[in-house]
Amino acid sequence: MKITNVEVSITSEAKDHPVRDAIQLLDRNGHTTLTIETDEGVTGQSKIYFGREEHSPAVLAMIIERQLAPVIIGEDPAFIRGIRDRLRTLTDYQGTPGLSTFGMAAIDQALWDLQGKALGVPVWRLLGAQRSAIPTYAMVGWLELDIAGLERVSAKAMEQGFRGVKVKVGGGPLSEDLERVGAVRKVIGDDAALMVDANQAFDYAEALRRGRAYEQLGCRWFEEPLPAADTAGHVRLAEKLDLPIATGENRYGQAAFRDLIERGGVGVVQPDLRRAGGVTDCFEIGLLAAGFNIPYASHGGGAHIHVLAALPNTIYVESGLLPDDSPISLVDGCYPLPDRPGLAGWND
Ligand SMILES: [Mg+2]
Repeated sequence: MKITNVEVSITSEAKDHPVRDAIQLLDRNGHTTLTIETDEGVTGQSKIYFGREEHSPAVLAMIIERQLAPVIIGEDPAFIRGIRDRLRTLTDYQGTPGLSTFGMAAIDQALWDLQGKALGVPVWRLLGAQRSAIPTYAMVGWLELDIAGLERVSAKAMEQGFRGVKVKVGGGPLSEDLERVGAVRKVIGDDAALMVDANQAFDYAEALRRGRAYEQLGCRWFEEPLPAADTAGHVRLAEKLDLPIATGENRYGQAAFRDLIERGGVGVVQPDLRRAGGVTDCFEIGLLAAGFNIPYASHGGGAHIHVLAALPNTIYVESGLLPDDSPISLVDGCYPLPDRPGLAGWND
C-alpha cells in the first residue's frame, strides 16, 4: 500500500461560551482536518483542535501541505515510526516543537487511523490492550464560573457517574481558590477525586505556598503549578510537597519528558496528543513513565482513549461533562472502549 494524497481543510470560529483558566481565555473553536489517501482506497483521518488564535488552523494547514505531505507521498503508511523520524529531521532546522509537532501529530494520528481501518480493528487492538474501560474524571471548574456555577457543574459530573472533578485555580488570591475548591469538595463528597489545575500560573514560591494549602483539601494532584519548561522548579517542588505534581500537556515530544521523569519532577504524566506528537509519542512517553512507576493521565480525551487502553500505568482519561444527547453513559466511572475500526474516540 502507498500513500497517494494528503487533503487538508480548516475551520475557525468564535466559541459560543468562552472558558477561562489562570493564563488565558479560550474563545475559539478551530480545527485542521487531515485525510491521508492510498492506492488501495483506504483512508485515514485526524483532526487537530485549537481553543484560541484565529489563524493557527490555517498556518498548520500550510505546514502540512507545503512541508510534511510531500515527504510522505509514495511511502507505505505502515511505517509510522519511520515517517515520524523523517519528519522530525525535516523540521529540526526550524525547531520541531510548536506547530511542526502539531503537524506531525496530525499525520501520526491519520496513519494510525488508516492502519486500523485497513485491518478492520480499533487502534487499541493494535497497541495491545491492558483494560476494557478507562476511569474518567470531569474537567468542569473553569474560572468564569461563580461558586453557584461550580456547584452546579460538579453536581452534574457526579450525577453522570464521573469519579471526580478538576477545578482551575490561580485566577485570584489563595483565599479565592480555597473558597472555590472547598465548595466543590462539599458537593462531591470526601471520596470523589478532586484535582486542581494552575495552567503554569505560579512561580516556585507561590506554587509551594498554594500546594501546601491544596494538600490540606485532599486534592489528588496539583496540575501545571509552574511554567512547563521549568524542570528544576518541578523537581524542587516535588521534593517539598506530598501532593503529586501533574504536568506534560505543554511539553513537545518524547524527549521533553525524559529529564523531568528521571529527576523526579513529575508524579502524574499528562501528555497532549497534539503537542507530544500523536499516538506514537504519547505511547512511548507512557511506557517511559511506566518504567519509573509513574502514572499516566491524558490531557483531553478523544483518540487518546486508545493509548490509555494499552498503557500499564493509566489512571484517568480527561473528559468534559457528557452532552445531554450522549450516545454512551459511563459504567462504574469508566468510558468503555470504542469498537469502530481506526482511531475514533467516543466524541468524534
Ligand atoms: Mg491542564
